[in-house]
Amino acid sequence: MQPGELTAWLETTDPERLRELWARADATRHEHVGDEVHLRGLVEISNHCRRHCTYCGLRADRPELERYRMDAEEILTIAHLAVRLGFGSLVLQSGEDPRLGVEFLEQVVRRIKALTPLAVTLSLGERSVDELARLRQAGADRYLLRFESSNRELFARIHPPGPSAARSRMELLAELRRLGYEVGSGVMVGIPGTSLEDLQRDLLTFRELGLDMIGVGPYIPHPATPMGSNPDQPDTGPTWSRELMTYNVIALSRLLCPRANIPATTALDALWPADGRELALCRGANVWMPNLTPLGYRARYEIYPRALPCDDSPERHVAEIARRLAALGRRVGRGPGASPSFADRRALGD
Ligand code: SAH
Repeated sequence: MQPGELTAWLETTDPERLRELWARADATRHEHVGDEVHLRGLVEISNHCRRHCTYCGLRADRPELERYRMDAEEILTIAHLAVRLGFGSLVLQSGEDPRLGVEFLEQVVRRIKALTPLAVTLSLGERSVDELARLRQAGADRYLLRFESSNRELFARIHPPGPSAARSRMELLAELRRLGYEVGSGVMVGIPGTSLEDLQRDLLTFRELGLDMIGVGPYIPHPATPMGSNPDQPDTGPTWSRELMTYNVIALSRLLCPRANIPATTALDALWPADGRELALCRGANVWMPNLTPLGYRARYEIYPRALPCDDSPERHVAEIARRLAALGRRVGRGPGASPSFADRRALGD
């Protein structure tokens, strides 16, 4: 697919063309990653953060936000729960928290790997290459680090730089790949100031990076952040609908990276709880990440405003997901569910 063609697809609001795009994405999903939907248990292990990202509610300068950091036993308990629920992998996510030390993380990863069959995915922000190597050595399988936008000037504005010696997210993604991680990245759709050209470049960047996992979700304004309290509409340009655009980026990600794992993201569910996940799963996505963070912590992991479920029984939640998948003619995947793209690379010895 050529860049001009991508922009045309992104821009389209014609219902017939949209149906064609989504049908093509769904057929490609079926052909390359099948009908199984893998469930990943998400655990938000710390909401401490040293960064000042203008979009994110965990940013350092929010004194009113009560911070927490889970201990190893709490995380292990959730790992065992994930196994009981039939999940094949666990995602440990956090703000960029320097006190979540590498020794602690190594131990947690080692214990999960020794005591469970789970694949372990980390999503801990920007860490040093040495730490990433140690965590890989400890057994971590996957790493998620979204580049958020390929527009460098925009990204520098919304994600003020960290310590000066730190590598850029793009450099870290290359290092993660070199270290043998299954690598995930992605973007938020609808960040004020994004152009169609930016989104088109984001998509081509997914392909250039050869991503194994691609997370795409709508940007959700958080009123306690500089970006979220700004009157600018999150959608950009007169013809933009953040909702349509998010699905189009998901569908085009599937067409450009047919063998990647693509989640129906939590942010979709936060904005469109009735059918956001289902629509993503019918337009290219093949992964669901049920949140296993205990509710008391989840309320404080406030990257954007979201409603908390009234029923926190994980068993009932998973039964409900299985029902929703069956209604789409899909089924819950078993095992760790590595992306075919990663398996292909492994087979080639890359
Ligand atoms: N600290 C880690 C994990 C952050 S949370 C990191 O920076 O990688 C995971 C993702 O949530 C981020 O990558 C970002 O894309 C998304 N996110 C953060 N704030 C958001 C917002 N206001 N709306 C939508 N998505 C958001």
